[in-house]
Amino acid sequence: MMVRLPAVGTLLRLGPDSHPVLTVRVTAPVARCASCRARIIWTETHRGRRMPVDARLDPALGWVTHFATCPQARAWSRAGGRGRQ
Ligand SMILES: [Zn+2]
Repeated sequence: MMVRLPAVGTLLRLGPDSHPVLTVRVTAPVARCASCRARIIWTETHRGRRMPVDARLDPALGWVTHFATCPQARAWSRAGGRGRQ
C-alpha cells in the first residue's frame, strides 16, 4: 500500500492514536538510513533533537521512531550523543 509521506513542516505524532508518545516536526523529505538503508523521514523534537522516523505508517503502532527499528541502533545512540542509556 502506498502511504502519502508527510511534507516538510508537518507535525507527526509518534505512537498509536490512542497513546501518542511524542510529537515531532518533519524537517526533510524522505531519506535513507545510513546504517541499514531503510527509508526514513528526518524530524526534530520540540527540544530540537533530530529524530529519524520510519517512512511507513504502521497500522497498529502509527509512526515509529527509527531508533526503535534500526538494526544499527547502537551506532545511532553513539552518533546522536544522547542515547537511551
Ligand atoms: Zn537504520
